[in-house]
Order: sequence, then structure tokens, then C-alpha cells
Amino acid sequence: MPDVPEDVPPRCPACGRAYESVTVHADGVMVNLLENDRYRRVCFEPTERDGEAAMQFYHHTHRQADAGAARAGE
Ligand SMILES: [Zn+2]
Repeated sequence: MPDVPEDVPPRCPACGRAYESVTVHADGVMVNLLENDRYRRVCFEPTERDGEAAMQFYHHTHRQADAGAARAGE
């Protein structure tokens, strides 16, 4: 099961937009958002967990992903 970190930035470090949730994965994971009703995009940010390399997944809803850069304050 993925962990949900507590010390995450207020905006996605990859695209700078608001996100709905963050998970951390240190093992292999499959991502398929083609027919996902809730999320449009997931951005990935390298991180570390317990001294081991891991990836943070920033989940963007359709609305968050559709928002233009000028509306990133949403
Ligand atoms: Zn992002």
C-alpha cells in the first residue's frame, strides 16, 4: 500500500498546479488514467523514504489538470 506523506509542498513540484492527493511508492506501480473519472493526470517527483529512493505521485483531478497556468491559484 502506498504511504501518504505529511511534509508535501502546497503545489505539485512538477507542474506547479494544485493537486488532490499525494502518495509515495518505492515499488513498481502501474498508472492508467485513460478512463479514470476522478483523475486526469499524475505527476512524479523523485524523493526518499527511509533512506531509499522513492517516487511521490501527485494526483490531479480533471478540473485541476484543465486549469490554465494563469488559473493555477485555484
Ligand atoms: Zn503536477
